[in-house]
Amino acid sequence: MSPELLIVHGISLPPGQFGGPWIDRLFTGQLPADGHPYFKEIEGLRVSAHALIRRDGEIVQYVPFGERAWHAGKSEYRGRGVCNDFSIGVELEGAEGIPYTDAQYNQLAVLTLALFDAYATLTPEHIAGHCDVAPGRKDDPWVSFDWPRYRRLLAARGAP
Ligand SMILES: [Zn+2]
Repeated sequence: MSPELLIVHGISLPPGQFGGPWIDRLFTGQLPADGHPYFKEIEGLRVSAHALIRRDGEIVQYVPFGERAWHAGKSEYRGRGVCNDFSIGVELEGAEGIPYTDAQYNQLAVLTLALFDAYATLTPEHIAGHCDVAPGRKDDPWVSFDWPRYRRLLAARGAP
């Protein structure tokens, strides 16, 4: 896969709770349906992201960036469907109405710049939220995510 789009996501499991093993378990296909009532609702869901940035800024990678992951679902970007075929998905541990942490913005900027270096096809113009590529179906990373702050960080660190 040649990544041409970076999709920013927000996730917490169960929704609104941080920490714990559940995001790792979900993205490695090992979420126990009996672990929490919410997990029953998403039982059998096969999803993965390339990377997760935890609340403390730790980056966990699940899928090599040049390989396809299963993060966008039914989606469309600038007239092109099936975003999983050409995008990298980065998840921020977060929740609706709760600001992301300073460490997460910093690490997301570091990761983004590394991806720009690795893939000439990725540029600041080709970054979107999950909500942007699956409107009406997905609303993460929610208004919790401060896009201008992220853009300023990228520019300050020399993004092209
Ligand atoms: Zn998402």
